[in-house]
Formats: sequence, structure tokens, C-alpha cells
Amino acid sequence: MEAKQLSEKRLEKYKEILLKEKEETQQIINAINDIQKRGSKDGNGDLSAYSQHQADLGSDTDESERRVYMLDKEINTIKLINNALKRIYDKTYGVCEICGDLIPANRLKIIPYAKYCIKCKEEEEERKRRRK
Ligand SMILES: [Zn+2]
Repeated sequence: MEAKQLSEKRLEKYKEILLKEKEETQQIINAINDIQKRGSKDGNGDLSAYSQHQADLGSDTDESERRVYMLDKEINTIKLINNALKRIYDKTYGVCEICGDLIPANRLKIIPYAKYCIKCKEEEEERKRRRK
């Protein structure tokens, strides 16, 4: 059986998207690090430009705590992007790691570093829920 994979052209396109996403994520990490270094005496720091990346936390959460949470999240995103880039070079990118089916393009558009198709992702989350 021939292994499923994306065409060179599409892999190239996703590589560009991932590299751009990585750069943006790195900028957010740098910005958070800067603010953390300066400390709270400089005010809260304006992260509103990155609102789409902001974690949805309750208003009672301390700003600094929120930044640490964001930083964690962004560092994790970088890891996922690096993994996705590795899969691009391996030409396994865009293929679900669990069932081996192609991940739908509209899913990759939203999450370019997705490892699983929607079905497997849901099953994976269900398993995680049950383990807790
Ligand atoms: Zn799958």
C-alpha cells in the first residue's frame, strides 16, 4: 500500500505557514520575556496586540501569573511547530499520526501543526478525560 502524503507543493506551502507562525510565536515569547524582566514596576505591559493568543483566564488571575501561563503556552506551540517542520522534512506532514489518514486542509488551516485528524484528536481527548 502506498503511503499517503501531501504533494511537494503543498508541503512547501505549509512550511512557509509554519515558519511564519514560528516567527510570530517567538516574537510573543520575546515580548513576554521582556515584560517579565522589566518587572511589574513598569506597569502591566501591553500585550493587547497579541490578544488572539491570550489565554482565557478569569479576571482574578494575577497579570504576571497570566504571562507565565501564556509563555508556557507559546513555548509549547513552538515545540509543536518544530515537530510539524520535522514532519515536513520527513514528508509525513499532514498525515494523522494515529490512523494514517490525511488531515483535512481546513483543519491544517486553523492548526497548521495538528498531528491528528479530527476524529483521532477527539478520541485522544476522550482518553485523556477518562484518565483524570
Ligand atoms: Zn486519524
